[in-house]
Amino acid sequence: MHAAHDSWPEPAELVRDSIGLSDFASWTDWSLARVGFRPSNCLALVDVCRDELMWPFEEEMARTWGRPFSVGALGAMVLAGRTGLAAALSHVPGEDRRQRFVVLAFPHIGIDADGVAGRVQRRGHTRASTACGALAALREQLLEGGPRPGAPRPGGPDDIEQDYLRERVGGLVAPGPVPSLTALTDLARRAAVEDIARYIDLARGSEPVDVAYISGMVLHLADGQDRVSGVTAEVCIDDDTIPLPT
Ligand SMILES: [Zn+2]
Repeated sequence: MHAAHDSWPEPAELVRDSIGLSDFASWTDWSLARVGFRPSNCLALVDVCRDELMWPFEEEMARTWGRPFSVGALGAMVLAGRTGLAAALSHVPGEDRRQRFVVLAFPHIGIDADGVAGRVQRRGHTRASTACGALAALREQLLEGGPRPGAPRPGGPDDIEQDYLRERVGGLVAPGPVPSLTALTDLARRAAVEDIARYIDLARGSEPVDVAYISGMVLHLADGQDRVSGVTAEVCIDDDTIPLPT
């Protein structure tokens, strides 16, 4: 787990330590089967950005875990709240009367051929564009020294998701230099996992729910391939938290 964002790896290290989508999906299947999580007794909660670039990841996860309950907004923030998670909880297939979620929280980042984070070549575009656009916009806001977390939301009702991203992830940024885009992406991951865990706790009341939390980031590489990196994984069963080797 990378706690301090100033120590977050460079883009080249993220690429070096990454794995392909289908190998990652196989790993989730294998490592969760050992702790009793199977597609027939789990509901997948997929938390990714709205960007269409995330479709291959979503498709691969659905191939392994079945049709997911989608909880992601811009920057992979989770706005589904307690009500959303209560709905998801009522959809868990109850093969053995235990309720299980597989949480897959993956913000994303483009890394171009020169190793520059945030750049991606999209289909039908001659020039590189930004990924994640919402996190890059947040970084611009932080560089401009815009409104700090806690200030009135500048977008009013018209920009709720970006405002939440600024408030939630901006609120995790330590004083000092503005973090790199890779570091902000990891902060978004952390915020998303914390939010989902809180909403599950609120939604479940006194009912036990087993939860596998798997998070990291999806890299969009210059060759058009997507890979997964920086994975953190743990399983919460009853009151025990078991880290999964990654
Ligand atoms: Zn995005």
